Amino acid sequence: MRDLYTGDRSLGAGYSAPVHPGVMTHSSSPRPLTPHTARALFREAALDIAALCVPTHCVLCAAPDRSLCRGCATVLHPRPTAQRLAPLVRQGPAAGPPAPLPPVFSACPYTDAVRGVIVAVKERGRSDAIPALARLLAEGILASDALACGARESRPSLPLVVPLPSTRASERARGFRHMECAARGAIRVLRQRGGYRLSLRPWLCSRPRRDQVGLGRDARIRNVTHTMSASPRVRGCRVLLVDDLITTGASVREACRALHAAGAQVVGIVTIAYAQRHSS
Ligand SMILES: [Zn+2]
Repeated sequence: MRDLYTGDRSLGAGYSAPVHPGVMTHSSSPRPLTPHTARALFREAALDIAALCVPTHCVLCAAPDRSLCRGCATVLHPRPTAQRLAPLVRQGPAAGPPAPLPPVFSACPYTDAVRGVIVAVKERGRSDAIPALARLLAEGILASDALACGARESRPSLPLVVPLPSTRASERARGFRHMECAARGAIRVLRQRGGYRLSLRPWLCSRPRRDQVGLGRDARIRNVTHTMSASPRVRGCRVLLVDDLITTGASVREACRALHAAGAQVVGIVTIAYAQRHSS
């Protein structure tokens, strides 16, 4: 398993220690130090030093020295899945025929492990675990067809990445915008892996609303409807909307409504995880 899949601070279960040039092993076959293994070694050393300076522990099992230990990281497998949402019914000044929405790609199901990492980030302020979510988000983006346009280096042809916002109250309590951070991390991963040069634009904001957790489908839709607005700067832009979790799709649809109302074209929707009980 490549370290891409294993979370922020781990090399993964399948990782085997690299061999430096000139160092003879029991098989007497010196192997070159590749850029990949060199980066992995450097990162592990840096994390060891960081753990000495700022003690940390695994967000899932509390093992010391890593935000996500190697064992826990191996269960965060990307298993991209797509689902369709019903077309968006446009009302008011932007009224017109229902606007079809792109399929929603999710990197993985909302397993206990994924839930544990997301809750640690959102509820316990463990921003150090965000890179694990960023890597999953990057896998979801790669699985979608949002990057299928134009050359990788062709910046204008790639969509702008717009994270779905939390409420201001949640952001204040948390001290950071977790999806903005995760999207920035995913953009970094995609640049390293595929040379994609995506740009982050946090151009959605959310008015106060009740937390969606614990609400049924209809209550979620009522709770979130007309609570988001998009910056006028998004007009005419192609947008890749990203979020952490899709359950009923109510928040994603509201974000799409706000983006459409502001004149944007939503060309892709990607979430880190999907809840099994979702419906559109
Ligand atoms: Zn662990």
